[in-house]
Amino acid sequence: MLLTITYAGRNTTNLGYLLYKNPYRPQVFELSYGKAYVFYTEVSDERTTAALLLDIDPLDLARGKVGASGGGLFDYVNDRPYVASSFLSTAIAKVFGTAMTGRADAHQALSDTPLDLTATVTMLPCRGEQEKLKSVFEPLGYETSYESFVSDEKFQSWGESKYVNLTICGRVRLRDLLRHLYVLIPVFDRQKHYWVGADEVDKLLRISEDWLPDHPEKAYITGRYLNRRRALVNQAYERLSAANAVDGEVLPAEPEKPEETPDKKLNLNAKRLGSVVAALKSCNAKQVIDIGCGEGNLLRQLLSEGQFTKIAGVDVSHVALERAAEKLKLNRAGDSLRERIQLFQGSLTYRDSRFAGYDAACVIEVVEHLDASRLSAFERVLFEFAKPPVVVLTTPNKEYNVNYGLVDDDEFRHGDHRFEWSRAEFRHWASQTAEKFGYSVLFSEIGDVDETYGAPTQMGVFTLCE
Ligand code: SAH
Repeated sequence: MLLTITYAGRNTTNLGYLLYKNPYRPQVFELSYGKAYVFYTEVSDERTTAALLLDIDPLDLARGKVGASGGGLFDYVNDRPYVASSFLSTAIAKVFGTAMTGRADAHQALSDTPLDLTATVTMLPCRGEQEKLKSVFEPLGYETSYESFVSDEKFQSWGESKYVNLTICGRVRLRDLLRHLYVLIPVFDRQKHYWVGADEVDKLLRISEDWLPDHPEKAYITGRYLNRRRALVNQAYERLSAANAVDGEVLPAEPEKPEETPDKKLNLNAKRLGSVVAALKSCNAKQVIDIGCGEGNLLRQLLSEGQFTKIAGVDVSHVALERAAEKLKLNRAGDSLRERIQLFQGSLTYRDSRFAGYDAACVIEVVEHLDASRLSAFERVLFEFAKPPVVVLTTPNKEYNVNYGLVDDDEFRHGDHRFEWSRAEFRHWASQTAEKFGYSVLFSEIGDVDETYGAPTQMGVFTLCE
């Protein structure tokens, strides 16, 4: 991901003083999730451009080093290393922290002066909200333009890509430009890489005190920045309105809902694994294949139970498999463990003879990562060709999402989800698939059950009819 900042005018090499970065010396910064490089792509009296390039290491992401949200699990196959996101905001704060405060020692006067600045942000996720780019950036004094792309020239029907290259151009102080980008990049990206807690409200209000209270899109910006967490959004909005003496605009209060804390998430993962293992035991499976095994949490549990004599883990992502091998300490394993477990790369959407010969196959929180158009291929690969006597499959229950503050139909629990099913949709798909391939299916719910919306996770256990 790349951010460039261009200063046009006279003596523009002074940008180096404001950013505290020497135009003639490229620099590298180590971050917990990768490296940030700062260098200048042009340096002259009339025009100087500084670039911040962020190189995120997907393995570091997967190790869950970053943030407490436990998001590591899903960080294998996704756009995170390539797009402008909250990672870029964190890097801006880390690398240009002093410039963000506006302190510039000998160049204070320049720092306090609005300059002709242009910023470009490459690959900003926008998801069909291109018109919002203008309504968000223009009131802050920027001319706003963007370059959009088709998803794939060979497949026009896939339509427009959700990413744009954004350019904003205005006469502003450098600190304001940096603060605007810091807040607004994650507003468009929507996925924060860290847990959004109550301190985020203070951070937002502090960093945007000069411009957010009067911004016509303040509700949108606040809602998005705080990941639509209703209680926090209301708190921020009330404080903003109070600061600005505007009444009557507070979002309608909702009854406090239990929040999805990292602890709760871990708890749900544990419950899910418990339910899967119980299902495997109740059908007396001994040889089990876990397809889409991720970093191997289920595999670890299976290894700890003697009844599972042959275990395989498959994933399409080799990074996930490396992580699984690391977590299971396979490089230090003795012969008997090595004989019991095998990991290999493969995809659920391609017929693969290595998937056959197991008593049960597990597909845990994976189907929702497949494009809907590939579901029929997946059904045949699993139920027609691999054809295990038992399939244990889990997937999120979309209805429950309101409890996570996700209210729009196209908002999913994770950025890589291609769809999420309601209980009726899942049951419909599963029953049809079972019938088509000669299986029966039983459903259950996993996690705390909401009276109206059901439980967060739904499970189907398919059994091959004799
Ligand atoms: N089952 C694991 C991981 C779930 S995350 C658990 O519950 O902890 C989803 C996993 O599915 C990721 O590891 C991803 O790499 C994998 N995946 C996505 N598409 C896949 C495909 N077509 N074939 C196999 N695995 C896939």
